[in-house]
Amino acid sequence: MNTETELSVAACSPMSAARPRNTQHATRVTQHASRITYYIWTIGCQMNRADSRRTAVALEALGLRPAARAEEADLVVLNSCVVRQSAEDKVVGRLSSLRSLKERRPGAAVVLMGCLVGDISALQARFPHVDLFVRPSDVDGLATWVEDTLLDRTAGAGSPLPRLYPGSSIDLQTGVPVSAEVAAMMGCDRHCTYCIVTQRRGPGRSRAPEEVVAEAAGLVRAGVREITLLGQNVDAYGRDLAGRPNLAGLLRRVHDIPGLLRLRFLTSHPADLEDEVIEAVAELPKLCPHWELPVQAGDDQVLRRMGRGYTAGEYLALVERIRARLPQASIATDIIVGFPGETAEQFERTLDLIRAVRFDAVHVACYSARPGTPAARLPDDVAPEEKERRRRAVEALQREILTETNATLLGQEVQVLVEELHRGKWKGRTASNKLVFFEDEEDWLGRLATVRITKTGPWSLQGDVRREA
Ligand code: SAM
Repeated sequence: MNTETELSVAACSPMSAARPRNTQHATRVTQHASRITYYIWTIGCQMNRADSRRTAVALEALGLRPAARAEEADLVVLNSCVVRQSAEDKVVGRLSSLRSLKERRPGAAVVLMGCLVGDISALQARFPHVDLFVRPSDVDGLATWVEDTLLDRTAGAGSPLPRLYPGSSIDLQTGVPVSAEVAAMMGCDRHCTYCIVTQRRGPGRSRAPEEVVAEAAGLVRAGVREITLLGQNVDAYGRDLAGRPNLAGLLRRVHDIPGLLRLRFLTSHPADLEDEVIEAVAELPKLCPHWELPVQAGDDQVLRRMGRGYTAGEYLALVERIRARLPQASIATDIIVGFPGETAEQFERTLDLIRAVRFDAVHVACYSARPGTPAARLPDDVAPEEKERRRRAVEALQREILTETNATLLGQEVQVLVEELHRGKWKGRTASNKLVFFEDEEDWLGRLATVRITKTGPWSLQGDVRREA
């Protein structure tokens, strides 16, 4: 699932490419670190959000301060997404607005980070106002450049803000979210024919378990209550590490962190999900019984051309295996409609699969040809209007299913981890990832509330909180 977030907080690697001819400009903003402000724009997935948070932490460790708006910042980082053309268009739009910002304030530095950063020389020619290009997750490269280029070493680095805990993670300035993502692994070894993300993020690289646990523990000490372990294919965790630790083992270690209320993981790949993970979810009370398990299509030929590595029947068997062990498991999925050559009949099989599984969430997108991917060589032969018709059909079916399944929760009590106050109502999620709203005078932020459901709809639930005796 891709979302767009904006963080007014700011964070870096050796693969970054600076524009040497802009160094002169960059030195103009050279100053004492504590006077330099930064702003991060994040477009895209949970991994980008996690990268932005680490970027913020790294910048603040260097003494930079967050700016309320991009227009006011000395350093603007645009953390980009190109999963679909629409996301890329949004990034390019933002880059254009940053061009005018540079015209107005030539002293500001602009950094482009994330999945748009492929061929750096082509990007340099296209976006001459960008000072630095940083590949996805390359937080160290960005921090090194900031330290070497933006900071006035003669003035000395600004005294870093107090850290909430040693070893870094969240800083006082950035605020502490109830829920935070931690990358367990970067990149992906799957080669889905439509996907550009794996090309831009490179092969699968797992972080050492100790490193993941330390980051998660630091976040929990800082006040975070829910951790989501991330990987493009999180089930492949540890395959590249000595001793081959696996996702189930990592989940067990993170689960034991004192103070943690909930643990999640995503994204699962249907061909890689191991029974040990299902067992861990069944056994560990804080580990939410929720899977993000992209199916992408319900037709075997389409799945083969997508390079997914399973059939619709195998996917259904996996869902049965999960539900046999965990009847309350919630399963969300991603679907692409209008993949090259997908006939109306093949698309009907996607609807059949949705009816068979009755997903708890479906993230549906129209196929978007991504340059350089194998699928982009196939004729993009499903007309845009037909793609849109299919997308709407998936949404309509999903609305129908969720209206029915959520209605069964009426009158029941659910446990909600409260994430924020939203327009006067407390907003949180159940372990199954359902959105719940309730009103109460008490401060519920970051706490688990027991809520009796009084109203249900396809996309959210409402209820009354049970007051503790
Ligand atoms: N790694 C996960 C997986 O197994 O697919 C998800 C990561 S991907 C960045 C997020 C979602 O974007 C995918 O599940 C897919 O549905 C969608 N997506 C990826 N490439 C796409 C494309 N070229 N056109 C439309 N949707 C796409």
